[in-house]
Amino acid sequence: MNLKILPADPRASYLAARAEIDAAIQRVMLSGQYILGPEIAAFEKEFADWLGTPGAVGVANGTDALELALRAAGIGPGDKVVTVANTVTATVSAIGASGATPVFVDVDPATLLLNLDALEKLLTETRDPRIKAVIPVHLYGQAVDMPRLMGLAAKHRLLIIEDSAQAHGSLVGGRKAGTWGHLAAFSFYPTKNLGALGDAGAVTGRDPVLLDQVRLLRQYGWHKRYVSDLPGRNSRLDEIQAAILRVRLTRLDTENVRRQEIAGQYLDALKGSPLRLPQVAEGRTHCWHQFVVRTPRREELRAHLEKKGIHCGVLYPVPVHRQPAYHDASLHLPQTEQACAEVLSLPLHPGLTNDDVARVIREVLSFGW
Ligand SMILES: *Cc1c(COP(=O)(O)O)cnc(C)c1O
Repeated sequence: MNLKILPADPRASYLAARAEIDAAIQRVMLSGQYILGPEIAAFEKEFADWLGTPGAVGVANGTDALELALRAAGIGPGDKVVTVANTVTATVSAIGASGATPVFVDVDPATLLLNLDALEKLLTETRDPRIKAVIPVHLYGQAVDMPRLMGLAAKHRLLIIEDSAQAHGSLVGGRKAGTWGHLAAFSFYPTKNLGALGDAGAVTGRDPVLLDQVRLLRQYGWHKRYVSDLPGRNSRLDEIQAAILRVRLTRLDTENVRRQEIAGQYLDALKGSPLRLPQVAEGRTHCWHQFVVRTPRREELRAHLEKKGIHCGVLYPVPVHRQPAYHDASLHLPQTEQACAEVLSLPLHPGLTNDDVARVIREVLSFGW
């Protein structure tokens, strides 16, 4: 009986660094400081250094990172924020939590990323002054064309907050995703390329004033203890998760190289198959958070693989504008809707062996195409 192959395997990542992670947890347990202590301060510095940006502020999760970034930048009720509908609802719920209204733009059929032609058209045709910000989602680990987006942002005076929750290590023209926008939001949910063993997130950026605002917002708006300067809330990243992330960060680059190898094996072996394979745009380095193929026979292929013990993910089966909480019957995003019906994530995580990858390839090819 073949062992199960999972779409992601945070337990394997834990086991690969078990002695170090256990020691880090023990260190925190014995320190007596569990919230906003030395581990989070160290992690913020180490993560910002790894990213190549001046600052990072740890928060409770990626959704909060997006919301607090928007609020820190002054986005709120009456404002509109443009994003895509093929994302986790977190992107959109963060916009709602800030008080702003989401506006959806369709995606580019080749990359499934925010279509910048469609965005430019929206901006020039509507000239809606309430559009204040854009959240590009670096979906699956491929970054949006940030030089072009930052050009549009400068021209239309827009704030850019990168949703970098799937892009720990993605590059555009040699520069990391998460260093381009006015602010960026990261999630360290356990299955992300850099994952905690619980919830965690961070806001990164260059502007110390904006980052200080995030710092206030994450803890009751406190500048001084018990004195709230802003109506903040609690979105703290705890010491245990920060200590775990410090260990995981030391392995991130190596794990991303392994992800790249696996993606290369899939791309080579499946290029003659009827699947539509992921396309990496010119000048982009993909961090392969997900390896997403497309086929109109997605459900059949998924069931076939499951029978063989190979479990695939679907990101995302229902676009945000077709979900009950955000339903908008008048809105049509044909590329987004078609993609949601066809996408399938083949298993890809650093814990896969070459034999596992070969087994996935064999079973994809053994499907009755
Ligand atoms: C994971 C993810 C989020 C949300 O992060 P959480 O830590 O789960 O709140 C936001 N956007 C994208 C694109 C994600 O993949």
